[in-house]
Amino acid sequence: MTKKVLSAIICVCLLLCTFSCVASAAAIPVIEGEISAKVRICPDTAINIEAPEVSGNVYAEGWEIRYVGGDWIPYDGEPLTKNAQGASLRYFAANAVGGYAYSNEAEIVLEHNPIGAYKYNGTDHWRDCADCGGQACKGGHTTLGETATAKDNICKVCGHVRTSQYTGILVFWEWLMALITSLIG
Ligand SMILES: [Zn+2]
Ligand SMILES: [Zn+2]
Repeated sequence: MTKKVLSAIICVCLLLCTFSCVASAAAIPVIEGEISAKVRICPDTAINIEAPEVSGNVYAEGWEIRYVGGDWIPYDGEPLTKNAQGASLRYFAANAVGGYAYSNEAEIVLEHNPIGAYKYNGTDHWRDCADCGGQACKGGHTTLGETATAKDNICKVCGHVRTSQYTGILVFWEWLMALITSLIG
């Protein structure tokens, strides 16, 4: 009689143990907190933001991305190119039996983080990016300076003074005349 009672108790204990194990494995992980609604990433760089805290039985976790007009796919760590502009980002955590939890969704903004004054060359202006060292706000100068007046030759964005073709020819012509005059003189 005592043996029967004992074995019954052991059986119940084993069953309870099994149930609780299965139940805890089936529990869906919890993603703590939220990710920011907009995530700015430099063009041509990989997503490098802090993952949210995850608790519970986590079998797999990571970022997922949804390109405009596409479906959610796992993010493979590749640098993001132009087609990721406006894409959505979320974090997932899954248990071993296919129970998924997701974070809120963020919008990806592909943009540099400009710092300091404009820099320029003969055709373009830009500002340095504080994050990746790339060229932020890059563009061509605003005026092409077809006339010789200095006012038209100042770029409205960066202040670079262009030398118009006409000014260049004029300078050369004056230099040539001065040379000829000196030779004749
Ligand atoms: Zn950048
Ligand atoms: Zn300019």
